[in-house]
Amino acid sequence: MAFLDPPWEWECTKARAILGKLTYGDTITAPLFAFRIATACLRPLHFSRGRRLSMKIHEYQAKEILRKYGVPVPGGEMVQTLEEADRAAKDLFDKGNAVVVVKAQIHAGGRGKGGGVKVVKSLDDASKAAKAILGMQLVTHQTGPQGQKVQRLLIEEGSAIDRELYLGIVLDRAAARLVFMASQAGGMEIEEVAHATPEKIYKEYINPAIGLQPYQARRLAFKLGLKPTQINQATSFMLGLYKAFVETDSTLMEINPFITTKDDKLLALDCKINFDDNAMFRHKDLKELRDLSEEDPLEVEASKFALNYIKLDGSIACMVNGAGLAMATMDIIEYAGGKAANFLDVGGGANQEQIENAFGILLSDPNVKAIFINIFGGILRVDVLATAVVAAAKKLNVQLPIILRLEGTNVEEGRKILAESGLKFEVGATMKEAADLAVKAAKGSK
Ligand code: GDP
Ligand code: MN
Repeated sequence: MAFLDPPWEWECTKARAILGKLTYGDTITAPLFAFRIATACLRPLHFSRGRRLSMKIHEYQAKEILRKYGVPVPGGEMVQTLEEADRAAKDLFDKGNAVVVVKAQIHAGGRGKGGGVKVVKSLDDASKAAKAILGMQLVTHQTGPQGQKVQRLLIEEGSAIDRELYLGIVLDRAAARLVFMASQAGGMEIEEVAHATPEKIYKEYINPAIGLQPYQARRLAFKLGLKPTQINQATSFMLGLYKAFVETDSTLMEINPFITTKDDKLLALDCKINFDDNAMFRHKDLKELRDLSEEDPLEVEASKFALNYIKLDGSIACMVNGAGLAMATMDIIEYAGGKAANFLDVGGGANQEQIENAFGILLSDPNVKAIFINIFGGILRVDVLATAVVAAAKKLNVQLPIILRLEGTNVEEGRKILAESGLKFEVGATMKEAADLAVKAAKGSK
């Protein structure tokens, strides 16, 4: 049984996504928010996967990277059609493999449980598995209830698994160091292990000046209970992983499961790598691994305009400047009995074009029934914002109710611009009043 039921799990994923978009400017509000998310999610905070936006890649791409660093992975091939799948499986059987594995490639874990990983022993069964998985809407604890469409498969050599272990590297923010983790409880959800039995996760903190030391890797290898014949293999495996992590500017690397085979070999059976988005300018080759079809289309669109946008489930679209205010806005909507349709930070210096783009993105979400604009005019003056909102609303012919709460520099001029625009805006005197208006409007409009 999963520790968290799927909706909660999904909320956590979204919360982490929001945390991932925060930038240095949000260092005051972020820890507070992180704390709330952490308690809400009943999850140890040190497992929240990094606070800044990170780029995800597929398993087959991650394994390609490991291979370059001499880390052993099973042979295999990524395919996008059933014909290619059959041919790739035939190649593997012809090479003498008795077992082949058909694996869904999506940017989410838990594929095994969701039916996205099939171990087969004949070409016929490989065909059937590929047919069942390719194109399916795969639902796992990380995809959300709507699932993710499978557009790629990895057809891979099967392995005779002896033990399923876990290896991972992440940044431990509290320790301000990378931490190398290992556990004998591999193959399952590591977050669950960390929560219920943290003592089952062994850790080595890495001194950034000298990197992961062989003795540290050896210590982990012994704690994993590996056989004497496997210790050296495991040590070079871990050192290879660490090198790959550092040289690719990763933010997360996980091998789950890290397996031992019946003939004493060690292999990365699954691999997840996230990269630091802010470092991708110096890794043109890695940047190309991004698969936009795995990302939310509205979020992709927003990222083109440097808008921090995360799509959520509710009906009230929010346009806010500053991540802290955006969080407070989501809270007050919830407090007023509604649900936010998104997290959107237009940034402190948003201009008319940004506002227009933001409107466009908010309006393309069919769940949106009302738009709540909550702006504190600091760098972005309220009159500039009001002019931009009026222009964008006219240009895009916005029919949905718009509720505003404005405060800050040139607020009087801003209010005047709205009042004289001839458009119907509702203005709340306080955040709470505006939130009440927004909730009422969302319930009233179809
Ligand atoms: P995840 O569920 O998304 O993490 O996908 P994984 O790649 O970790 O696969 C899930 C599970 O499938 C693994 O923990 C293994 O138990 C099983 N599996 C994957 N590849 C093989 C294989 O080659 N042989 C066998 N026997 N099992 C495999
Ligand atoms: Mn896995």
